[in-house]
Amino acid sequence: MSGPQVAIDLGRIERNARTIVDRCALSGIKVFGVTKGTCGMPQVARAMLRGGVAGIAESRFENIRRLRDSGINAPIMLLRSPPMARIEEVVRTVDISLQSELATIRELSRIAERMGRVHDIMLMIDLGDLREGIWPNDLIPTVEQILALRGVRIAGIGTNLGCFGAIMPTQENLGQLVAHAYKTERLSGARLDWISGGASSSLTLLLEGRLPAGINNLRVGEAILQGGVETFRETPWAELEPDACRLTSDIIEVKLKPSRPIGQSGYDAFGNQPVFADDGDRLRAIANIGREDVLIEGLTPIAKGVRVLGASSDHLLLDVTDAEPPPAVGDRVAFRMSYGAMLLAMTSEYVEKAPMHDVEDFSGRKMVSISAEPAAACILAREATGARLEAMNFDVVELADIERPPSGLVRLTAGSDRRIAHKALTATARATHSFGLIWIDSIAALMPEDEDGIDLPECSVLARALGLDHKPGALQPQLSPENVVIVGLRHADPAEARVLKDSRVCAFTMTDIDAMGMRDVMHEAIRIATSGTQGFHVSYSPDVTEFAGWAAGSGGITVRETHQAMEAIALSGGLLSMDVSGLTSALEPRIATDTVNFVMSAFGKRIL
Ligand SMILES: *Cc1c(COP(=O)(O)O)cnc(C)c1O
Repeated sequence: MSGPQVAIDLGRIERNARTIVDRCALSGIKVFGVTKGTCGMPQVARAMLRGGVAGIAESRFENIRRLRDSGINAPIMLLRSPPMARIEEVVRTVDISLQSELATIRELSRIAERMGRVHDIMLMIDLGDLREGIWPNDLIPTVEQILALRGVRIAGIGTNLGCFGAIMPTQENLGQLVAHAYKTERLSGARLDWISGGASSSLTLLLEGRLPAGINNLRVGEAILQGGVETFRETPWAELEPDACRLTSDIIEVKLKPSRPIGQSGYDAFGNQPVFADDGDRLRAIANIGREDVLIEGLTPIAKGVRVLGASSDHLLLDVTDAEPPPAVGDRVAFRMSYGAMLLAMTSEYVEKAPMHDVEDFSGRKMVSISAEPAAACILAREATGARLEAMNFDVVELADIERPPSGLVRLTAGSDRRIAHKALTATARATHSFGLIWIDSIAALMPEDEDGIDLPECSVLARALGLDHKPGALQPQLSPENVVIVGLRHADPAEARVLKDSRVCAFTMTDIDAMGMRDVMHEAIRIATSGTQGFHVSYSPDVTEFAGWAAGSGGITVRETHQAMEAIALSGGLLSMDVSGLTSALEPRIATDTVNFVMSAFGKRIL
C-alpha cells in the first residue's frame, strides 16, 4: 500500500446505522441510508442494510448503477431530480425519487405509463433552506395537477434543510411539513407512505424529543458515515462512532526546519501570498497527498501533536514537533475528514478506497479478501473478479495488518506458479487450528527436495507444506496429510509416487475420476478434507483442465468437470481459502477467463 488511501470501516458503519435505526424505530421512523458520501460503494450500502436501514438513498445514477450491478435489491431512493434524458432510467432502477418540478413529473408519468408502471415520487417542499422544493403556497395546485397523472403516485412529502441556506430543522418548520403532508392526504384521499423530515441534522431534534409526530422517514448519511461529527458538533451522540472513514498516507520527509520561509516572498503554487509566523525551528513532515487528492482544509490529523500547515498539489506539510513519538519516514499518518473532504477523496482517482472490517465484526458474514501477484492481479481485474464476487453478495474487503483473519472471511490468492499455493496455505494455517486441502492439479508436487535446496521448487510445494521434506515451512499441526486430497493426478515421478504411497495423502487419478465420476470423487474429497477440520483450502492449477486446443496443459478433466468440482466445493460450505496458479501474462485470455469462471463456481456462482 502506498499513497493516499481511504480506509472504510464497515463494522463502524453497520453499528452506527443500527444505533440510528433503533432509536428512530422508537418514534416510528424508518431510515434510508445515504451512500453518496462514499460514491455508492456497495460494501457500504450492505453494511447499512445489515444495520437495519429500510433502503438506500443516492443522488447519482452512476452510484445507483453500481449498487444495482452489485446485486443490491433493497429499495433505492433517488435524492436529486433527474435530467429529462435520464427519466427512463429513474423509472427502471429506483423505487422512489425526490421531485419538485411539474415538467419533470409529467415526463416521468408519461414514460412510466408507457412502460406499464407507476413511479413513486416524494414531493419536496422548500421550508426556507432555498435549495430544492416547491414553495408551500404552490402545494395545493401542484398536487392537484399531479393527481391527474396516471404514471406517478405521490408516495411521500419531504423537505431538505441545512444544505444551502444552513437553515436548522426545528419543531416549527418540520411541524409545517407534517401539516402540508396531511393537506396532501386530504386532497388525494390516500395515505402517504412517507413524511420525510430531512437528513442527519434532524436527528438532533429527535434526540431532544422535539421532532413533530407524523414524520416517519429520515434520510441519513453523515451521522452513519461520520458518526455525526458535523451533525452534533459540541454535543456528540455518544453511541455513534466517528472515524468510520479515515484517510491515510505515507510520510516521505521529516526534517527540522525554520517555520518561516527564507528568501524574497512571491506567490505560492495557487496564486496566493501566504504569511508565516516565526515560531523558530520546528520538526516538519511531508505526507504524499495534496490538493489534487483531497480538501486540505477538511483534514484533522488523528494523532495528537500533528498539525496541518498547508499543502501544494501533491505535498501535505505537517508540523510534528509535538507528536509523541515523532513520525519517521515510511510511517503512515491518519486523518479524520470533513464530509466535504470525504466526498472529494472518494471521487479522486488518486485515492485508493479500501473497505475493511474490524475483527469482532466478522462472524457469519460473506466476505472475501483478494491478493494477487501483479500479472495475476491484471487478469483478475480484467475479468472483473471483485465486481462479480460483489454481485454474488460478497463484501470484497482488504485486511489491514490483521494477524488472525476472523471466521467468515474467504481468502483468494492468485499467482503465476505453484509456489503461490505455499504462501496461501501458510496464511490459512495462521488463521485456523486445523484445515484440509483439496489439491486440484495433474501433478502432486510431492517431489523430494535436494538436501541443499534453498528455494522451493514448484514440484515440491506440497511436500514442503506437509513437512515431508523435513525443512522449515511445514504447516503442521494445522494441516495433516490425512486431510489432504489430490484430484486429477496424471503424472507422478517414481520418487514422488513413493512419497505419496508412504504419506497418508489421498489421490484421485484420472482413472479414478473416469471410473467414479466427478460427483462422487468430490463427495469423497470433501469428506476427507473436512473430517475434524474447520474447513478446507482449495488449490487449483489450470494445468489440470483440458481446454480445447490448449497445448500447454497436461490435464485430463474437462471444463464441465472442473465446474462440477468447484460447484461441489461451494455447496459444501467449507471453503476457507483458495489459490489459483498459472495466471501469467502469457496465459491465453480465453483460458484465463475460464479459470476465473471456475473461481466463481467455487464461490457459489450457479447458472440459475
Ligand atoms: C445528501 C442528502 C441527504 C443526506 O444528508 P446527510 O447530512 O449526509 O445526512 C438527505 N437528503 C438529501 C436530499 C440529500 O441530498
